[in-house]
Amino acid sequence: MKKTPMIKLFEDAAKKLGYHPYMMPSANLSDQYTNPDGISRAACQYCGYCERFGCEYGAKADPVVTVLPVAEKTGNLDLRVNANVTGIRHDGKKATGVVYVDTITGEEFEQPADIVVLASFVFNNVRLLLTSKLGKPYDPASGTGVIGRNYAYQVQAGKATGFYDDKEFNLFMGAGALGSNIDDFNGDNFDHSSLNFLHGANLRISQTGQRPIQNNTVPAGTPGWGKEFKKASLQYANRVLTISAQGASMPWRHHYLDLDPTYKDAFGLPLLRITFDFEDQDRELTKFLGQKAGEIMREMKPAKTEVSAELQKYSIVPYQSTHNTGGVVMGADPGTSAVNSYLQMWDAENVFVVGASAFPHNSGYNPTGTVGALAYRAAEGIQTYMKGGGLLA
Ligand SMILES: Cc1cc2nc3c(=O)[nH]c(=O)nc-3n(C[C@H](O)[C@H](O)[C@H](O)COP(=O)(O)OP(=O)(O)OC[C@H]3O[C@@H](n4cnc5c(N)ncnc54)[C@H](O)[C@@H]3O)c2cc1C
Ligand code: SF4
Repeated sequence: MKKTPMIKLFEDAAKKLGYHPYMMPSANLSDQYTNPDGISRAACQYCGYCERFGCEYGAKADPVVTVLPVAEKTGNLDLRVNANVTGIRHDGKKATGVVYVDTITGEEFEQPADIVVLASFVFNNVRLLLTSKLGKPYDPASGTGVIGRNYAYQVQAGKATGFYDDKEFNLFMGAGALGSNIDDFNGDNFDHSSLNFLHGANLRISQTGQRPIQNNTVPAGTPGWGKEFKKASLQYANRVLTISAQGASMPWRHHYLDLDPTYKDAFGLPLLRITFDFEDQDRELTKFLGQKAGEIMREMKPAKTEVSAELQKYSIVPYQSTHNTGGVVMGADPGTSAVNSYLQMWDAENVFVVGASAFPHNSGYNPTGTVGALAYRAAEGIQTYMKGGGLLA
C-alpha cells in the first residue's frame, strides 16, 4: 500500500525513537492481480469505503470475490441465502445436520450433513452450540465445562491525538487497512520486569478515509456545539492524527459467555450473554501504551498533543471494538478446550468450529489474519477427516 504523508511522519518519528515501524498487512490489493485460482481483481482506489463496508471494485480480498466464485465453478456449491441456522442436530456423538429457517418465507428445513462447519462468528458459534446442547457448557463457579470459556476482548489500550495548525492531510482518502505499526511494545518484545501487566499492544497509525459526520475530533475543551465547535471542526477536519493501541486481552475465570436467561431472538432462542469487565491488567497495559503513543505523537510535532491512557469500565456503548474472541477454544486437553488444533470438536468429531472463538486469549492484534489461518488449518483437518474419520491428532 502507498505510504501517505501521515504514515511517513509516523515512521520517521518512530524510527527516531529507536522503534521498528512496518506497513500494516492488508487485504486491499496494491496492484491489479490475478490469483492462482484465476480470479482477476482491480487495484485499490483508496476510496476508504471498506473500513466498514464492502468494496465495489473487488479490491479487498473478501470471500465474496475470492472464494465463492471458485467454489461456484466446481458445480458442487449450493448457496442458500436468507437461511438462518437455528440448531445443530446430533445424536450425542456426532452431528447429523442443521436446522435452518428461510427468513423470507418462515419455512423451516432440516439439512442432513456428514460434516458441519460452524463459522457464524464468535457469538453465534457459542450460542448455537449452547442452544443445540453440543459440548459441555462452561461453569464459572467450578471452572469446568468448555463452551463459553475464555471469552476475551481487544483492549483499546490508549491513544494519542495530535492537532496540527500548519499541516493538512487528505484524511478523507484512505483504505480499510492502510497504515503503519510498531510491535516494539507487543507480546514479549520488551522488558516487563518493572511493569504490572502481561503481554502488550500493537501501536499504529492508520488512514482509513474519515467519514464526514462520524469523524469530528476537536481539542479537549472545545464546546460540543455552536460557533466555536464549528470553527474547530473545520480547522481540524484534515489536521488531526491519532496513534492508537490494540491491546491483548487475557482470559479470566469470571469472563465468559452463556445463554441469557431473559432475552430471546425472533425465533424464540435465548440471546447470548457476555460477562466481562476490564481488569487492572488491562488498565496498567493501557497506561503504559497510551504514554508510548504520546511519546511518538510528540515526536511527530503537532501543535497540540492529547494522550488518553485511562481505561474506563467496559461498556458496549459507545462502540469500542468488534474484536471478540474465545468461547470455543482450541487446546490439547478436552477438559479445558472445546476443539483440537484442527478446530474439530472433541465432543463431536464431524463438527468443525471455525473463527476467533478458537482463540484461548486475544493478542495485541486484530483477529482476522489469524482467523484466516485457522480456516486453512480447519480445511486441512476436514480433508483428512473425510478420508479416515475419527479425532485428528
Ligand atoms: C466494522 C468492523 C470492522 C472490523 N475491522 C477489522 C479489522 O480492521 N481487522 C480485523 O482483523 N478484524 C476486523 N473486524 C473483525 C472481523 O470482521 C471478524 O474478525 C471476522 O469477520 C470474523 O470472521 P468470521 O468468519 O469468524 O465471522 P463473520 O465474518 O462474522 O462471518 C460469519 C457469517 O455467519 C453468518 N451467520 C451468523 N449466524 C448465522 C446463523 N445462525 N445462520 C446462518 N448464518 C449465520 C453471518 O451472516 C456471517 O456471514 C471488524 C469487524 C467489524 C464489524
Ligand atoms: S479503499 Fe477499500 S473499498 Fe476503496 S477501492 Fe480500496 S479496497 Fe476497495
